[in-house]
Amino acid sequence: MAEIEWQQETDVVIVGGGLAGYCAAHEAAQNGAEVLLLEKQQEIGGSTVLSGGFLAFAGTDLQRAAGIEDSNELLISDLRNAGGHENDERLLSVYAEHQLDAYEWLKSAGTKFIGVQLSSAHSVPRAHATDPRALMKLVSDRAQRAGRVKTLLGSAVERLVRSGHGAPVSGVFATTQGRTQAIRARRGVVLAAGGFSRNAEMLKNFVPNQSRAVRYGGAGNTGDGIRMAWALGAGFRDMGYIKGTFGFHPDARTQEGRDWTKLPVYRGAIAVNRPGKRYVDESLSYKLLGDAVLRQPDAIAYQIFDQGIMDQAADGVPPFDFRSAQRRGLVFQAASLEELAREIAIDGPTLVATVKRYNGFVANGKDEDFGRDGLSSHYGKLVKIERPPFYAYPSTSGLIATYCGLTVDTEARIIDVFGEPIRNLYAAGELMGGFHGVAYMTGSSLGKCVIFGRIAGRNAARAA
Ligand SMILES: Cc1cc2nc3c(=O)[nH]c(=O)nc-3n(C[C@H](O)[C@H](O)[C@H](O)COP(=O)(O)OP(=O)(O)OC[C@H]3O[C@@H](n4cnc5c(N)ncnc54)[C@H](O)[C@@H]3O)c2cc1C
Repeated sequence: MAEIEWQQETDVVIVGGGLAGYCAAHEAAQNGAEVLLLEKQQEIGGSTVLSGGFLAFAGTDLQRAAGIEDSNELLISDLRNAGGHENDERLLSVYAEHQLDAYEWLKSAGTKFIGVQLSSAHSVPRAHATDPRALMKLVSDRAQRAGRVKTLLGSAVERLVRSGHGAPVSGVFATTQGRTQAIRARRGVVLAAGGFSRNAEMLKNFVPNQSRAVRYGGAGNTGDGIRMAWALGAGFRDMGYIKGTFGFHPDARTQEGRDWTKLPVYRGAIAVNRPGKRYVDESLSYKLLGDAVLRQPDAIAYQIFDQGIMDQAADGVPPFDFRSAQRRGLVFQAASLEELAREIAIDGPTLVATVKRYNGFVANGKDEDFGRDGLSSHYGKLVKIERPPFYAYPSTSGLIATYCGLTVDTEARIIDVFGEPIRNLYAAGELMGGFHGVAYMTGSSLGKCVIFGRIAGRNAARAA
């Protein structure tokens, strides 16, 4: 390979300005490295700022104050159950080892956690809620304050540079305002470029069964980091398990501004398909619910609930903020189930019979159709749907994130298809594979960004 003419030099290059990228940047700078963070969009934040802002931690002061007993063991067991025991156990152990430290680190950066919610795949409430934009700002400000971090916006990294197979990664080619330059990374490169929920071609190749899901996530999430490491022989994990999230409005693509999944099912709603029938245990992980809705006619379901459940809405907590969805005209409301059925164009007597049968199961304590025994997972008492007015929220599966990708070790080094580390190349955040296995547990992706972002940054700074 011809000698590269470097236009810029730094110690550590970080590709991507989301949560993982800035956690890595902070830690690399703290470990004495000069850091250049390249972000291809004109603003930082990626999918992080679109997220629900839930982070999964166990055994925190917030949980204790709310009388919730949680532990590392329970957290890991929930991750394993959500992941169908396909998770890389070594990565789960890293999460367990560092999660409380990550929680304290975020608090020390000024992050305010406003409560703990029960969410998908949790056997106790452990989704620590925060405003994702504030989180992003606090973490990026903290990294900038470390003094050695420079951010270049509108700079897309195109390729990794190394002199040949087995040689360390020595830099990147990046394009800023139409000009491509070679940037040397004296110590290492951290890929934190997010997933590929916006790359139709990659999705088609890896998960053609998700083609009916609505595509969402950060506009820059086109799998660049995965493809660049792939070109150097990186291995993959969990690609076939990509799943959408249940609860997105079918028009999510066309809604203005941010949109999120709404999950009245986790407050006691049922999900019915166009024929007006239940088709699933609604307490399952919203990832599995996402797969289930894709198998229904037109890939559509309606979450049906009553005023009692509407009263359980949590304003400002995205998945449970049913009232804001109603204000935006996304929720149907009617005085009776027959009228509601007319509004959503499904057969009235069928919907009435479905709700009656379900209420009977609640009264008898046994769901004879789908074995539902909790609001989410096995937690929470089921409630009848009986108090008017009644509501219907049209829902499909939204592909918000990919949660799979590059094989990494516990040091966040990227491992090639032969099991060897690609020297001086690290991964953090959504583009890592192996952590989630079959499905994601709420809050574990942002949690993983902090934990592995910090590890990747630290190790890149220390690399020779
Ligand atoms: C609607 C929604 C709700 C979610 N809710 C939650 C939740 O509550 N809890 C949870 O744990 N997870 C949640 N997630 C998932 C979570 O937000 C993401 O997995 C996480 O934010 C990914 O962080 P990241 O730093 O890896 O990537 P991102 O935050 O996506 O950042 C990656 C950045 O890299 C940039 N980039 C890409 N390619 C290049 C390139 N070639 N050169 C330079 N820059 C590049 C992108 O523009 C982007 O800014 C949600 C996701 C969505 C979309």
